[in-house]
Amino acid sequence: MCGIVGVRSKRGVHLSRLITVLQGLQHRGQEASGFVGITVDGREVGFKDLGLVSDVFRRYGHDPILRVAIAHTRYSTHGETYRPENVQPFVGFIDGRMIALVHNGNLTNYTYLRQELEREGVIFRSTSDSEAILLLYAKETGEPDERLKKLSERLEGAWTVLMIDGDRIVAFRDPYGFRPLWMGREGEDVWFASEDSALRSADIEVVEEVGIGKGYVVGEGLKPFTVGKKLSLPCSFELVYFARPDSNIFGRSVYEWRLRAGEILAKVDEVEADVVVPVPDSGTIYAIGYSGVSGVPFQMGLIRSHYVGRSFIQPSQDMRRRTVRSKLFPVPFVLRGQRVVLVDDSLVRGTTMREIVRMVREAGAREVHVRIGSPPVISPCYFGIDTPTKEELAAARMSLEEIGRFIEADSVLYLPLDEYKRNMENFCVSCFTGRYPVRVPNVQP
Ligand code: AMP
Repeated sequence: MCGIVGVRSKRGVHLSRLITVLQGLQHRGQEASGFVGITVDGREVGFKDLGLVSDVFRRYGHDPILRVAIAHTRYSTHGETYRPENVQPFVGFIDGRMIALVHNGNLTNYTYLRQELEREGVIFRSTSDSEAILLLYAKETGEPDERLKKLSERLEGAWTVLMIDGDRIVAFRDPYGFRPLWMGREGEDVWFASEDSALRSADIEVVEEVGIGKGYVVGEGLKPFTVGKKLSLPCSFELVYFARPDSNIFGRSVYEWRLRAGEILAKVDEVEADVVVPVPDSGTIYAIGYSGVSGVPFQMGLIRSHYVGRSFIQPSQDMRRRTVRSKLFPVPFVLRGQRVVLVDDSLVRGTTMREIVRMVREAGAREVHVRIGSPPVISPCYFGIDTPTKEELAAARMSLEEIGRFIEADSVLYLPLDEYKRNMENFCVSCFTGRYPVRVPNVQP
């Protein structure tokens, strides 16, 4: 998963402003980030490195004034490691003009496309599918919108992109619309960002959510375009976990969506409890919804440190376990002697939750009932969410009772799949169903 930002400015914007917007998307990727742009006096500038947005740009140490620029914050998906050559943006030149690309999503036919390009003698400098998009774009002819229309016939999977082509910005949300993209305006400047919250928190006026299969070429004017082939498949896991709760994506408020899911969970639950405790931050809004409907008081029985990195991406189980313990701290005052409903957004491997249940018990809880705001994750994502292999997914290899035993909870309840799918007709829910609406490697739709 990744966060992307782009701007085209008549009078020029400082890089620091672009960085502010990118920081608003830091939750979408913490591994690496970078930017590329053209300054108001025509210089090509750029920098990318491993690390958080603020660290990377502190290392860069300049604040050029940019006419066009794109930026990226990266969270690599399965199979990839921390490779510096995969850090975005990807940059190239056609006829002396710069083309550059940042990408959110995963191509499902990358291997095929890469082999085809390599047969033609094209050399890849990374193992990233995003580079393939740029190389294919360069091979096409015509205006940016024509090139992207042709690419949409060939690329499969998720590929929301922002590009620089000469002094133009090109924005495009793929024909499935897996990943979000918003447009904003500030005077005559046109902005794009993965989530509207990132624009709003930088005081940029939010204009519209870019439609599925829709794009813009922004030069002296704004030229919209759409591609013919379309299939609406926004990623429902964006609503479950990924997006910022103050964002609106796919026409919905993320906050409201999580609140309602928590409410439904409470309606289908029969457990007797004394206190509802969220796993912060991802479980908090679900827990508020649950508490509101059940009448069981909400308390912050776990406190989260904001200075410790992500536990999910730690390579070994033991490292993840230790990171959980240094990130979440139980509050004995809230937990001691209580029957606790512990609420989180999702359960993937289950190792995080097992550790949390242990900590909650060590702090004196009498019973621990785990409640999950989404259905069981039973299948990997091929469209840009980092999920482990099927074998590592708790719900793919264990029954509900076995999961309960594994995470050492008194009971476990997920949001029922049919409740989840209600009002989600045109969403991708394949991680919860194992049915893929488009062709993915080794799995047919
Ligand atoms: P685990 O069950 O130990 O694999 O961890 C699941 C927890 O990690 C969930 O409760 C989420 O809050 C969080 N999570 C779920 N999916 C992802 C993801 N793709 N990347 C990072 N964190 C995630």
